Amino acid sequence: MPAYFACQTLRYSIGLTDRLYYHDSYLFDFTAEVLSRSFDGLRLELDRTAFYPTSGGQPFDTGTLSGIPVVDVVEEGDALIHVLAQAWPADLSRVEGQINSVRRLDHMRQHSGQHLLSAVMAEDFSLATVSFHLGPDYATVDVEPATASAEMLLAIEERVNDRLLENLALSVSFEDASLAQGLRKAPDRTGLLRIVTIDGLDRSACGGTHVRHTGEIGCVVLGKTEKVRKAQRIEFYCGERARRALRERLNAAEQSAATLRDRLAESDKLRRKLSLELAVIAGQRRFAESVPDQNGSFVWMEEVDEIGEEIRASVDAFLSNPGTLAVILGTKGTAILLGAHASLNLDCGKLLKAQLDAKGGRGGGSSKLAQGTIPSLEVLRSLAGDLVR
Ligand SMILES: [Zn+2]
Repeated sequence: MPAYFACQTLRYSIGLTDRLYYHDSYLFDFTAEVLSRSFDGLRLELDRTAFYPTSGGQPFDTGTLSGIPVVDVVEEGDALIHVLAQAWPADLSRVEGQINSVRRLDHMRQHSGQHLLSAVMAEDFSLATVSFHLGPDYATVDVEPATASAEMLLAIEERVNDRLLENLALSVSFEDASLAQGLRKAPDRTGLLRIVTIDGLDRSACGGTHVRHTGEIGCVVLGKTEKVRKAQRIEFYCGERARRALRERLNAAEQSAATLRDRLAESDKLRRKLSLELAVIAGQRRFAESVPDQNGSFVWMEEVDEIGEEIRASVDAFLSNPGTLAVILGTKGTAILLGAHASLNLDCGKLLKAQLDAKGGRGGGSSKLAQGTIPSLEVLRSLAGDLVR
């Protein structure tokens, strides 16, 4: 059987089987009599059934007939055939049927969700549904013209859920095709039509199973869309499927955010490592380019914005050479860094502390490297001048 059907090409003319699901889609348990049994006992026709056969885009029901699993339900001509996993006993005529209600209720939500979605797209967005398919993971509708943009799809999703929350009643009626009024799509058959009505919104010929109120659909979420020949195929999810689809999207978004964060942290670490390596090279180059003063010392005195780890790394590299002295001022926070190579026999910690104590600052350090702060930049500058002298 082809996978796609337009709802109203459904056949539901009366065969020999009374189709209980036409009248009550919440009937999950029923009894029936065997009408006919195939020679191998794997195919059974009943006088009445609640099992829905694959049709109108909606898949068949699963469940059991007196404990034997039903693996397929098909229409052949007017006959409705239950395909069984094991042979039906030849001498047994009474059947106790049980529908897999979880699967059926899911199908009802998707199918009613489709009617609601198609009605809203027709009414408010001038998009006509040309087919519907209900798959195991997601359902699709094909619409024409294929003009729905991403923005329009968002607007459709919002509108559908607004209508859903109105909790509109769905009902089933049987009307003659020539007399039926206000159908969304003109019927392509004559005689008795089964019509599914969403109160105040939609009337469509359909043989499927539906919920009683739009609220039972839960939520409608639109998914991917693609062009298929002249039409646009739109994925959608209703009920539990919608919750799952949203959860999956959320998980994927969180996953990629975490990956992005990790990458950012990694590149930040690398950037920091590289900039420290560059700072060391800069410190060595500064030494290589400096000339000794009258005492034969190599003095680096500089004012920078802030005494950060890069300038420290440069100073460290500079001071690894004999005869070096560094005095770095940081204008932010009025800070000073004083360092000297051991060959100069200076005690930087003691020297700086004495100077700072005398001028209202504070600080200290080791003999090789010391730092401190002082409230005034002017005082700091004069202090630095004294140190170099
Ligand atoms: Zn339908």
